[in-house]
Amino acid sequence: MSTQPTLTLNDGNVIPQFGLGVWQVPDSQAAQVVSHAISTGYRLIDTAAIYENEAGTGSGIAQKSVPREELFITTKLWNSEHRNAPRAFQHSLDLLELDYLDLYLIHWPKPRQNAYAEAWKALVKLKAEGRVKSVGVSNFTVTQLKRIIDETGVVPSVNQIELHPRFQQNELVAFHAEHGIVTQSWSPLGQGTLFDDPDLQQLANKYGKTVAQVVIRWHLDRGFVVIPKSVKPARIEENFDVFDFDLDKEDIAKIASLDSRDGRIGPDPDTANF
Ligand code: NAD
Repeated sequence: MSTQPTLTLNDGNVIPQFGLGVWQVPDSQAAQVVSHAISTGYRLIDTAAIYENEAGTGSGIAQKSVPREELFITTKLWNSEHRNAPRAFQHSLDLLELDYLDLYLIHWPKPRQNAYAEAWKALVKLKAEGRVKSVGVSNFTVTQLKRIIDETGVVPSVNQIELHPRFQQNELVAFHAEHGIVTQSWSPLGQGTLFDDPDLQQLANKYGKTVAQVVIRWHLDRGFVVIPKSVKPARIEENFDVFDFDLDKEDIAKIASLDSRDGRIGPDPDTANF
């Protein structure tokens, strides 16, 4: 097995470039899914308070004897808790049965609530207290990133955003690069909508890989952190089998051409109001 790539965050901590996302995994199934992923070699697990599977995720982690420092566990602050971040953080930690988190993210900015800057200040404090190694955000736009940086002087280590070949967010990614923010791709497989794309199928044939593997490899080659989700053991293993090839430059360019203005699948962070 080739080594999994990592990235160094702007606070000096190291993040695996590949992991498992567990959105929509029922709590009752999460332990089994997470433990299978860890056995396969996954080291990063991405959950969130709103996924309601932090307890199952924690059980899956506990079932494995992998040293805690080899794992990278992320969870997220839900929108209703922007003004209660320390309490929400502790609740997540208790459900996960962990002593610390590797990464805590503000899940959505929810600008109409106008509390994300307050939440960011609380996360910065949690990091200063050593209760979380790194802090970041999710679904933040350039405007929202600028505001929290201006108000605290602290640049998020990560912005986790919707990103897949049909929705590449190049302007936001360029802002991240300029400011030392790691881009983490959510719905990296377009929630399963990319598998019949003829260009991707052609690339899959060329490399002797599946479309899922080619797309995951593209995220890695672009320098993103990628967190595909599956509950099926065979797909969990398939998605991990991406460390023995690289895409040629012209193929990365071909995938760049699949970007579309209308490619967004999830909510628009500026207008999402849940
Ligand atoms: P995804 O793009 O990872 O697609 C997952 C779906 O693709 C699966 O349900 C399965 O149907 C299919 N799939 C996976 N591997 C496959 C394979 N090898 N072959 C065929 N089909 C396969 O979608 P996602 O779950 O939306 O995103 C991944 C993770 O990103 C989530 O689990 C979550 O952790 C995170 N996420 C975060 C946010 C956020 O707001 N921060 C939003 C959505 C998702």
